[in-house]
Amino acid sequence: IRDLPGDSEAGPGVRQVQAAWSPVEPTPVAAPRLLAYSPEMARTLGFSDADVASPEFAQVFGGNALLPGMQPFAVNYGGHQFGHWAGQLGDGRAITLGEMVNATGERWELQLKGAGLTPYSRSADGRAVLRSSIREFLCSEAMHHLGVPTTRALSLVGTGELVERDMFYDGHPELEPGAVVCRVAPSFLRFGNFELPASRGDVDLLRRLVDFCIRRDYPRLRGEGQALYAEWFAQVCERTALMVSHWMRVGFVHGVMNTDNMSILGLTIDYGPYGWIDNFDPGWTPNTTDRHQRRYRFGQQPQVAYWNLGRLAGALSLVFDGVEDLQEGLRRYVAAYTAADRDQIARKLGLDECRDEDVGLMQALQDLMVDAEIDMTLFFRALADVDPDAPDPNLFADSFYDEAKRETAMPQLQEWLSLYAARLLQQDLPESLRRETMNAANPRYVLRNYLAQQAIDRATQGDLAGVNDLLDVMRRPYEDQPGREAYAARRPDWARSRAGCSML
Ligand code: AMP
Ligand code: MG
Ligand code: MG
Repeated sequence: IRDLPGDSEAGPGVRQVQAAWSPVEPTPVAAPRLLAYSPEMARTLGFSDADVASPEFAQVFGGNALLPGMQPFAVNYGGHQFGHWAGQLGDGRAITLGEMVNATGERWELQLKGAGLTPYSRSADGRAVLRSSIREFLCSEAMHHLGVPTTRALSLVGTGELVERDMFYDGHPELEPGAVVCRVAPSFLRFGNFELPASRGDVDLLRRLVDFCIRRDYPRLRGEGQALYAEWFAQVCERTALMVSHWMRVGFVHGVMNTDNMSILGLTIDYGPYGWIDNFDPGWTPNTTDRHQRRYRFGQQPQVAYWNLGRLAGALSLVFDGVEDLQEGLRRYVAAYTAADRDQIARKLGLDECRDEDVGLMQALQDLMVDAEIDMTLFFRALADVDPDAPDPNLFADSFYDEAKRETAMPQLQEWLSLYAARLLQQDLPESLRRETMNAANPRYVLRNYLAQQAIDRATQGDLAGVNDLLDVMRRPYEDQPGREAYAARRPDWARSRAGCSML
């Protein structure tokens, strides 16, 4: 990204106007301490156990020191937030330390989140609180192990400093422990990086950014000129479709799908007020600031991604000849999403293929799950154990949240199960293979909101065991882990009020 124009004269707090990025150093913190790290990510980057354990590791990934070669910077971007153009935003609290090429030739960008002010911090403090940092750290790694395209997290470092946050209810500022997450991805470019120069009519910068992105992030693309641009945009659309289809498969709700939070590589990025579906409900959103409009509710995510791609297309139209290629890219989104959705239906239901009538079968199940308040994760996991010759609704006893609704729903569930069993009997797939396929698509463990909250509560008391246990459970989400049944349990009643808000 260094071949883009920067503005090295401006210091932190200075609002940039034209730059695509600015050099900026992390602001040192009082007492950096490594609280947790991802062993997989450390290994991928070539850090040994001794490296991770060294005091230098916490210094570097808390923002107090740089390794040789690191040239930190923050990037500038704009974005559409909740349907409206929000103007310039930029990395207000994210600072990239640099890129690293590992032993196998993979290139990874290392970025600190919460490392202090940047030229794009606007009126905010550039810091992150422990609670939200734990959520980002755990969820990035959980998503990775669930097979969902995502940015990763290397480390969680406590800063030994307090951060001031306005608390929602009494309006008084509250002091909370601060933390820094090192997140890792091949690229942190967002739709908003392209929208910003487009909004300023800076066609030259936009074109350079597109060329840079193709060269660095899509190195396998061949061709040149408009044909290359067209195929690049189509692949952005397809990757986005695949990402969202995985969200729908595992019950992940991003919560803030603004275009500045959409990765150009189709990676889940910016773990803020995200949440996980407990009882299946397309109307649910974890984002309380979106509780009226519900723009980013679970069931709306495929449409929102399409809308966001439309904004990206609008920006790119400045460097495309005509709109046909962009429209074709958007059609590729629809085709890719439809295909991925059908593939997920087949895998979640354990079918050798997804026929048209199977889409209806899944829809009928989802309607039933909404009406009867059925836990998505528990239900799909139990579905693998259905005996096609004698389907038993009692297999799903644990999946219900409401006793009365369960009683009412029993006859419909029985009816749906007989349709499902009949469908299973029409295919040749061996039962063991069906179960294996389903258990690889329907996780046993997801990062339920209350589990993350419990880990956060313990960490706030200084006990990191909850974070590390949860991280460890989420490393093998498709395996039954004896002794860890509690992590697969449905949301307890006490956690209900914390579970965000629903349309219903
Ligand atoms: P988000 O809602 O997390 O996507 O953030 C929207 C914008 O606000 C981005 O430009 C962020 O960098 C910026 N931002 C959020 N929190 C902070 C903070 N504590 N300090 C500086 N900038 C922030
Ligand atoms: Mg963001
Ligand atoms: Mg954020």
